[in-house]
Amino acid sequence: MRDDNCIFCKIANGEIPSRTLYEDERFRVILDLGAATRGHALILPKEHFADLVELPEDWAAGAMVLAKKMMMKMKAALHADGFNLVQNNGTTAGQTVFHFHIHLIPRYAEDGQTIGWKAGSPTPEELEAVQKEIAG
Ligand code: 5GP
Ligand code: ZN
Repeated sequence: MRDDNCIFCKIANGEIPSRTLYEDERFRVILDLGAATRGHALILPKEHFADLVELPEDWAAGAMVLAKKMMMKMKAALHADGFNLVQNNGTTAGQTVFHFHIHLIPRYAEDGQTIGWKAGSPTPEELEAVQKEIAG
């Protein structure tokens, strides 16, 4: 299903032009207009899923295999030193477009980007409590 009000549905299905790096029946890979680094790209499914919760498992598997292939190709073509895969879910986590996507971000020495988080220092008790909360 597509969502008529979703810009990534339109881009993924070619209704809005994009700098496409790859396309198949299920996915389109495009350059991000707000690229963090040279070559920053997005994997978009051609059907509308808001986030990873909505993405069916077979699509999720396909997206990850494609991410690996694109990473290898882009790393070689762009001579990138490293690579980040980023996938945001929810406004709090930085998601701004509510159509599932994976960021493919080539990294270069001294590219000036910081993609990450500040390390915390949970106590052993806090780790145990959260472990129980999640794993039961
Ligand atoms: P999010 O913050 O939801 O994880 O990522 C959304 C990404 O989509 C951002 O990196 C932003 O630069 C990119 N973006 C937003 N609108 C467009 C667009 O119309 N075309 C392209 N190519 N990228 C877009
Ligand atoms: Zn969509």
